[in-house]
Amino acid sequence: MTTPIVEATALSKRYPTPAGEVEAVRKIDLALDQGSFAVVKGRSGSGKTTLLNLLGGLDRPSSGSVRIGGVDLADLTEPELAATRRAEFGFIFQAFGLLPSLSAAENVELPMRLEGRDPAERIERARTLLELVGLGHRAVHRPGELSGGEQQRVAIARALANRPRVLLADEPTGQLDSRTGGEIVEVLAALVETHGVAALIATHDAVPIAHADRVFTLADGRLSSVDQADS
Ligand code: ADP
Ligand code: MG
Repeated sequence: MTTPIVEATALSKRYPTPAGEVEAVRKIDLALDQGSFAVVKGRSGSGKTTLLNLLGGLDRPSSGSVRIGGVDLADLTEPELAATRRAEFGFIFQAFGLLPSLSAAENVELPMRLEGRDPAERIERARTLLELVGLGHRAVHRPGELSGGEQQRVAIARALANRPRVLLADEPTGQLDSRTGGEIVEVLAALVETHGVAALIATHDAVPIAHADRVFTLADGRLSSVDQADS
């Protein structure tokens, strides 16, 4: 048996608020294998963003644990956690999160620059990744000169820059029409196949379901598995 790339055990997150504690994520157990494509469906406020942030080390759990390749994130110092985040994860967000003053290629290069990669290698890999997502011809365009779907493709290319083992996408199709959203999911599904990454997509719409190996539902911070036949 191989170790899952991501393994959450009894993962919980509680936020203190003036009105009392909010339990955003409740005792979630979840394992993601290499080459698997998982979807978490849930309404707004169900805990999707909190869950993804915990899995990706952007936030620390109140209790329970997250292991990446067998390493417990709680055992890492902040600098180690930041390094693990950059090396192991690619993040994709609803609002794309591209830097507006940089070209598509420069946006894709940015994570590699932060890792201190050689400029020639960066430029070559950015070109390859943009071609991979079908945007080789848009490399010098800035985000403002691209459609929403194109911007999200650039964000996907950027997420792959440092060869992560895990892609975490938080409502990646939320700002796109359903056809463009479907195309984005196709791109992600193809990457899971060809790159052997594990992908977890959080969504409140139905778009990604057809491609998923596993579908979960999140309701009020609790995760349950959905039989594919039911979805
Ligand atoms: P989703 O992404 O599914 O919309 P979130 O993970 O953003 O859900 O939020 C889950 C719950 O946790 C919601 O009730 C939300 O109001 C609450 N929540 C999220 N972040 C915070 C925070 N920083 N402080 C207090 N409550 C929060
Ligand atoms: Mg959210």
